[in-house]
Amino acid sequence: MDVLGVLAEILSPVRCAGCGVPGDTLCPACLSAAHLIQPGTGCQRCGAPLTNATCRECAGRTFAFSSAVCAGMLEPPLSRVVTLYKDAAERRYAALLGKLLCAACDPWRGWPDAVCAVPPSARSLARRGFDHTAPLAAHVAHGLDVPYERLLVAARRADQRGLGRDERRANMTGAFAVRPLVSVPAMVLVVDDVFTTGATLDGATRALLAAGALEVRVAAVARA
Ligand SMILES: [Zn+2]
Ligand SMILES: [Zn+2]
Repeated sequence: MDVLGVLAEILSPVRCAGCGVPGDTLCPACLSAAHLIQPGTGCQRCGAPLTNATCRECAGRTFAFSSAVCAGMLEPPLSRVVTLYKDAAERRYAALLGKLLCAACDPWRGWPDAVCAVPPSARSLARRGFDHTAPLAAHVAHGLDVPYERLLVAARRADQRGLGRDERRANMTGAFAVRPLVSVPAMVLVVDDVFTTGATLDGATRALLAAGALEVRVAAVARA
């Protein structure tokens, strides 16, 4: 931990996002209460937990990405960790979220050439004051021992809140672009915080495929 980190711990010790006990970002009891999706057990296409052989979440839907994983469900206490991290800028939760993502992506070890993040829109960056997805993608890259690359930019403002499934997909067309002068690796893993309909990750995937990626898989911390 660096000097600033030590100071932050003294002034305001990190607390469990679930129950508020100081000392850990999520205490063992709250961690075991979190609705996590065991790696390798979710729907191969959309990452949803499977209750039987066919996934009701993605039936009849098409995605540009070939496969998806989600670390858990967006329910307390995991939803609380995500909110504290994203909306209260409590960056000490990045390591925990990164660790959960790494575990979810472990079955893909050896597959990607690089990991990138869904870039935040300029509006969300201004509201939050930091890029919340890049640290998560960097954790996954480190865990899978492949490069973290900044491949994408948010090409235009595309707020997804309040939109339905089809509207979200249409809204994401052209929302992302590959950064100028960047060469896109063949196998790319894209990381985001929350998987709602998959439209955002689908939009990011379409930009990467158009720029030369051969296969894109996606990972999100939590499934809404
Ligand atoms: Zn707790
Ligand atoms: Zn599915």
